[in-house]
Amino acid sequence: MISNAKKKILKGMTLDELKEYFISIGESKFRGEQLFNWIYNHISFDFSEMQNFPKDLRNRLNESTILKTLELATVQYSPSTGTKKFLYSTTDNKKIESVLIPEDDRNTLCISTQVGCPLDCKFCATGLMGYKRNLNSGEIVDQYLLTAKEIDKKSITNIVYMGMGEPLLNFDNTVKSVEIFTHELTKGLSRKRITISTAGIPHKIKELSELGLRVKLALSLHSCFEETRSKIMPINNKYPLKENIEALKYYTKKTKTRVTFEYTMLKDINDRSEDIKAITKLCSQLPSKINVIPFNSIKHMKPNGISAELEPTSYNRILEFVEKLRNNNITVMVRETQGDDIAAACGQLAIKTN
Ligand code: SAH
Repeated sequence: MISNAKKKILKGMTLDELKEYFISIGESKFRGEQLFNWIYNHISFDFSEMQNFPKDLRNRLNESTILKTLELATVQYSPSTGTKKFLYSTTDNKKIESVLIPEDDRNTLCISTQVGCPLDCKFCATGLMGYKRNLNSGEIVDQYLLTAKEIDKKSITNIVYMGMGEPLLNFDNTVKSVEIFTHELTKGLSRKRITISTAGIPHKIKELSELGLRVKLALSLHSCFEETRSKIMPINNKYPLKENIEALKYYTKKTKTRVTFEYTMLKDINDRSEDIKAITKLCSQLPSKINVIPFNSIKHMKPNGISAELEPTSYNRILEFVEKLRNNNITVMVRETQGDDIAAACGQLAIKTN
């Protein structure tokens, strides 16, 4: 018997990879298609259920491969908004979170790509917990599969890569997971219902442009001024906004989509009249819209330095800011804060025990 830790993980493999796997063990590639269907359509992870596989093949798979990556640890529910936060354990006992956000016309699942995050954005709780490791593609996909199993597959209509971690720093696994979610055989989600959110890794944005996935892309903007942006997002020192904007222009041309700029409102830092001017100028350069996010406090993490000083812009001021942008013909959405009562809102995901 091979121990579970040494078994090959088949969950998270794309259709091509599953076909190759079956060929490598002397089976028909058609088995790859069948397994793909079992895992991602029927959400079945138990070979004994797969009755269209001969028994000896099921036994072989059972002995040398595994379909388990995550395990559901806890679910927290916010009665005021209907938001649910799912805490998952990995096989090496790391904890990650996914959040299901119900809205009038959609149910969005927000998924993680890394355990922790290396970027250390000053307004984000995940940054404060540090970085542990990348999630593998099975662990990324499993957040969707296990959540779908808990509720009902059809009720998840959208996926956003806005949980813990930076998706473009875990590029291959993120891309694989998108390929699986959007594959016609999974009868899955349209690419228009999938958004990858990045703090901005220009060469990876370009690489993504070439892949033809054409998912929606969001950049965490938060300031149009390099100096301010570097203060609250240290990654901007390495990859300045200017380079990211060039990369995004390329993305919009290649994919014929428009990008979203996420903009978390921080009092006196990015909510001034010069910020409105700068946003207006930026948006005139490429097809885009702004997603304004009220800042969710991370005071429960007891941060120090600049993080401790950050305050949310008042709601009235946000409305004023938005109105002025709209008067400048900018498309602006205001994201309602969802789930801050269970620390499941944007930027509040962090596991203290890790
Ligand atoms: N690393 C990726 C995805 C994770 S963050 C990225 O940077 O885009 C998802 C979104 O939540 C980003 O726009 C991020 O800037 C925002 N966010 C982080 N912390 C927040 C907080 N405390 N309040 C509101 N939004 C926050």
